[in-house]
Amino acid sequence: MIGGGIGGLAAAAELVRHGLACRVLESQDRVGGRLLSHASAAGRFDLGATWYWPGETRVAALVENLQVATHLQHRSGDAMYHAAGGGRRMEGNPIDVASGRFSYGASSLAEGLANRLGGDVSLGTRVHRIEQSGTDFTVSHSAGTVSAPHVILALPPSLAVQTIEFKPAMPDDVRALAAATPVWMGTVAKAVIVYAAAFWRHQGLAGAAISHIGPLRELHDMSGPDGVPAALFGFAPLAPGEPTPSERDIVDQLVDIFGPDAATPLEVVVKDWRHDINTVPPLPVTGLPMETYGHPRFQQPFADGRIHWASTETALSAPGHIEGALAAAERAVRAITIQAASSSAATAQFHRGDTR
Ligand SMILES: Cc1cc2nc3c(=O)[nH]c(=O)nc-3n(C[C@H](O)[C@H](O)[C@H](O)COP(=O)(O)OP(=O)(O)OC[C@H]3O[C@@H](n4cnc5c(N)ncnc54)[C@H](O)[C@@H]3O)c2cc1C
Repeated sequence: MIGGGIGGLAAAAELVRHGLACRVLESQDRVGGRLLSHASAAGRFDLGATWYWPGETRVAALVENLQVATHLQHRSGDAMYHAAGGGRRMEGNPIDVASGRFSYGASSLAEGLANRLGGDVSLGTRVHRIEQSGTDFTVSHSAGTVSAPHVILALPPSLAVQTIEFKPAMPDDVRALAAATPVWMGTVAKAVIVYAAAFWRHQGLAGAAISHIGPLRELHDMSGPDGVPAALFGFAPLAPGEPTPSERDIVDQLVDIFGPDAATPLEVVVKDWRHDINTVPPLPVTGLPMETYGHPRFQQPFADGRIHWASTETALSAPGHIEGALAAAERAVRAITIQAASSSAATAQFHRGDTR
């Protein structure tokens, strides 16, 4: 397994459940990838994924399985509209939709799976080469090599083709597709602004805002259950080369929208995903999500049916979401277990001398 994000970990846990041995090779010193919960004195706040939505049955099942605490996204109160001249109160909140939140951060999903996998997860292990030799692959990484009959690529496809050498090379059509597949949320900075109290709620505000002037274009309440700990978060979509919004600019914007109470946060944390080398490839990616995500070619393993895709971008269902990563993991594991079952049936036939 290349990658210990939620897709890789879910696939590994499922393989182990089927009695198959598996190693997760993760380049960072933590699991979770785009699930990234920042720990501050007040609590844990998500700098990557935040929500899951009604109908995302795989996420709901994982929450249940791991007994992860959740609460509903705060939506009550009025939203704000922000343009030159300041914030304008809207009637009601057309910005937030019904969704669930992970009370101790989305990373709890990845950490829960990694705890179950124990020594099957190798952190600080960056894969740089995958070579096919006979029926096995030799995977070279920063700490040595490992051999396996199947490889799951649980990292964004464009990152895989730009940073990992494949021998023999990937089929041309697969390589072109992967190279053109953008990383979901790879051009966004996310900011979390922690406060001593959810002051906006006391003013009958939801904490949600849309801004035409930024730097944050969309804002939401990120507080815990009942508003504790208190926080807001926002997204800044960024063009290549555009500077990361500064803490000062973000706080000034919040004062412009919500008034002077916003001037004294306990903490401002900004994560610019464009610069995360474990998520976004070094060279630009030119394709569009609608052309590439969940593409039929991603549904088929390559290299004699033994290299499989399992990142969210490759999913048929909810590509981009945590749900998509879980769906992609499910598909990869299904392909491997079917092959494992048919090869053990063939072995059993061979031992019985039944070679019809
Ligand atoms: C700002 C932001 C907000 C989001 N909001 C939401 C949300 O609210 N709800 C939602 O459902 N989804 C959201 N998402 C998307 C969600 O986070 C992803 O769909 C999901 O986490 C992807 O999981 P993955 O396993 O496919 O990939 P990743 O999480 O990217 O995992 C890939 C892993 O591979 C590792 N890796 C990379 N290269 C190598 C290598 N060479 N060798 C070994 N390991 C390697 C990485 O370190 C990483 O751990 C958001 C994402 C971002 C960035």
